[in-house]
Amino acid sequence: MDYPRLVLKSGRDRSARNRHPWIYSGAVKERPAKVGDGAIVAVCDNEGEVLGLGHYAPQSTLICRMFSFGKEQPAIEAAYWEGKLGKALAYRREILDLNANTGFRLVHAEGDSLPGVIIDLYADAASVQLRTVGTAHLTAAIQGFLQKELGVQHLYLRTETKEEGEGKWIIGQEQERTFQENGLSFYVDIATGQKTGFFLDQRDNRALLGSMSKGRRVLNAFSYSGAFSVYAIAGGAASVDSVDISAAAADLATRNIELNFGEQPNHHAIKADAFKFLQEMPADAYDLIILDPPAFTKHISTVQKAARGYKEINLKAMQKIASGGLLFTYSCSQHISADLFRKIVFGAAADAGREVRIVHQMSQAADHPISIYHPEGEYLKGLCLHVS
Ligand code: SAH
Repeated sequence: MDYPRLVLKSGRDRSARNRHPWIYSGAVKERPAKVGDGAIVAVCDNEGEVLGLGHYAPQSTLICRMFSFGKEQPAIEAAYWEGKLGKALAYRREILDLNANTGFRLVHAEGDSLPGVIIDLYADAASVQLRTVGTAHLTAAIQGFLQKELGVQHLYLRTETKEEGEGKWIIGQEQERTFQENGLSFYVDIATGQKTGFFLDQRDNRALLGSMSKGRRVLNAFSYSGAFSVYAIAGGAASVDSVDISAAAADLATRNIELNFGEQPNHHAIKADAFKFLQEMPADAYDLIILDPPAFTKHISTVQKAARGYKEINLKAMQKIASGGLLFTYSCSQHISADLFRKIVFGAAADAGREVRIVHQMSQAADHPISIYHPEGEYLKGLCLHVS
């Protein structure tokens, strides 16, 4: 097949040759004629050599997102996309026990060579995000695959034309359901929950936390579903306080605890602003603190302000945590690099004036893979710190 050509300026082909999937409009010499938003185009260098295929988005500065590399131009039909989805599923089967984990991310955009596509599974329900016009054309292929290969009976779709959080059920229906993560149970409401319903990316970090919780008094700040709290209780924590500014989240945390352990006098869900809570709590009340805030910045221009937010909560936690305490601290802001996050935490430690050691460095779970060619795919950073 010959696809319409998008020709790069001389000297601007390096990143595409290195399998980086994003083409910016400034790198383009010649746009394809007569094709609109969402069309499949062949990205070519200045000499006309085909470097790969991508979805065209003429209105965007990110004018093309590539999903294949090399000079082949295969016919892109349902079978092609099903092949890619099949590869994504085979990878999950390799890296994850899908019996103990019925909630997992099947497709992580660039990490699975499917820019713009996010697919999360929660037992027999799927949450699908298609963020470009090009990927919206994949709806039928994705639906067919999910029904055939994974027995999906409910599918919630969010597309780029909708505001975040808005979407529709294209098969099955709205209802809260439960799924398993590392053998623990959780409620998820795909349509009304945060993100795609649950933060699957913290799975491995929760398991680590569970293994280090025994006998500790735990504060889970920014707790949302209370998933970290569930692992802490499973790991033998002495007590757990889950703090979230949203009443619905605090309620969900309580329900998730009860789902796994029945009524738990050692767990308290508290609706509060975590900044204020950390400010006002007494010293030495906790010997394990989790800080997993929402992304404080979604844009490069607000990185400074976000950095101050991260520093503030980390400083408070480090000042007040009991001696020998463990601090699990995270940032999911794409624009805060692992290096910058570590510097921010360093600043907090220095101001707190305590001896702080890095016990573990964490990232996103393996079903949120990072293409080596697309470092931007790394967004979740975490440090487990020991505070003397
Ligand atoms: N740790 C959670 C994910 C946290 S998402 C998990 O493992 O699933 C971030 C959460 O922070 C959201 O639930 C949001 O309601 C909450 N939040 C945002 N601002 C807050 C604030 N100032 N104080 C407390 N919670 C806040």
